[in-house]
Amino acid sequence: MSELREKAKQVVRRLVAAGHQAYWAGGCVRDVLLEREPADYDVATSATPEQVLELFPKAVTVGMQFGVVRLLLDGDGIEVATFRSDIGSADGRHPEQVRYTSSPEEDVGRRDFTLNGLLYDPLKEQVLDFVGGQADLKAGIIRAIGEAAERFAEDKLRLLRAIRFAARFGYRIEEKTWAALRAAAPQIQQVSRERIRDELVKMLTEGAARRAFELLDESGLLEILLPEVARMKGVEQPPEFHPEGDVWVHTRLLLEKMEQPTATLALGVLLHDVGKPPTFAVRDRIRFNQHAEVGAVMAEEICRRLRLSNAEIERVAALVKNHLKFKDVPKMRASTFKRFISMEGFDEHLELHRLDCLASHGDLANWRFVKEQRETLPPEEVRPPRLLTGHDLKKMGYEPGPRMGEILAAVEEAQLEGELRTPEEAQALVRRRFPPGGKSRRVPATSRRKEK
Ligand code: ATP
Ligand code: MG
Repeated sequence: MSELREKAKQVVRRLVAAGHQAYWAGGCVRDVLLEREPADYDVATSATPEQVLELFPKAVTVGMQFGVVRLLLDGDGIEVATFRSDIGSADGRHPEQVRYTSSPEEDVGRRDFTLNGLLYDPLKEQVLDFVGGQADLKAGIIRAIGEAAERFAEDKLRLLRAIRFAARFGYRIEEKTWAALRAAAPQIQQVSRERIRDELVKMLTEGAARRAFELLDESGLLEILLPEVARMKGVEQPPEFHPEGDVWVHTRLLLEKMEQPTATLALGVLLHDVGKPPTFAVRDRIRFNQHAEVGAVMAEEICRRLRLSNAEIERVAALVKNHLKFKDVPKMRASTFKRFISMEGFDEHLELHRLDCLASHGDLANWRFVKEQRETLPPEEVRPPRLLTGHDLKKMGYEPGPRMGEILAAVEEAQLEGELRTPEEAQALVRRRFPPGGKSRRVPATSRRKEK
């Protein structure tokens, strides 16, 4: 038994010893029954927050402002909350009122789905099931507790949670729950963009992204939340490069092949071809000119809408913008290649390319080439130390200014091409190509000679 689990049992023991009712509740019970290790334990109890604090004086109180007191024990790992029922819905997301109760059954009634509505007594090792959660867990069904339409009306976040759990566990959504979910989809915008982002990121990274996005599509949520992605459907591609089918088919194949992606990689995968629908054109064949550049701008907009951090937005946009460059890798100049593989987070770029290939023609030659080069090229050749600084150039008699930047860039270029190894060679190149007093970058051979 894990340490956290043992502690979560001790918490129940102490509450029960003091005369209260106490159970493990919700997702952790579901996970225990599925033999998955819960990330955290929620304890539900008849004890009031004051009574809990008396027993656990070191507990940290959170959530006072919502009238719901949760007590964190042991960092984030264990949370204790008093049985309560939620009443009404103020904004389609939060209850108008909450009332403490001594009834565990009432507490279960406020929870979202039957598989999340189980209680467990770790002392007696008994499940308390007021909602048929065990049967649904066995049958693989996501079913709202109570009247589905009402439960979704109370809190629209549940629309996304239903889909996330269905995808994660490979379960089906029960009919009435599904019908109510689809009917409530147009109101999803009542959920804050941050919460929507968190749910979408979980769907993308929890291991069943393809199924999650298919359910988002079938529910009508995709069209509302990510219309740019919904537009990929039916956008044909040239069969010689994409035997698998249209842009949506291709994108779903990538989603399916992801292996424990980071959030930014997963978003990069989802959005890498988002520029294809608006750039679709039939010329000699189907073409998507500039789709990576167009897509990068769109990806940035989408990620900003989803309230990602600036660093994440930049990363996702860069993934989209650069994903096609891998096809040029064999003919890249050495300097271009070294700069390319020095891009921040290059592992994610490389992985996106691998998935892109696997989800289309299946040819991994360029991927292998880049991977090998990265493994064999010494870092000091890929990102060599500077041979000359601005300070050195001043000593050589050059004035600070734009020309100096040009000179330094030319030195770096030549160095990455392998033409220069030492500061002396660099100085010689500078004197040859940028005679002191000269203005233009490219000095014609004749004038070079004159100045000598
Ligand atoms: P995860 O494994 O993703 O953490 P979880 O089911 O544990 O899933 P939490 O957000 O940790 O989800 O919530 C714990 C429990 O609280 C849920 O199992 C459910 O009983 C209840 N719950 C959480 N969010 C809601 C909600 N929006 N509406 C109703 N009940 C909820
Ligand atoms: Mg949880």
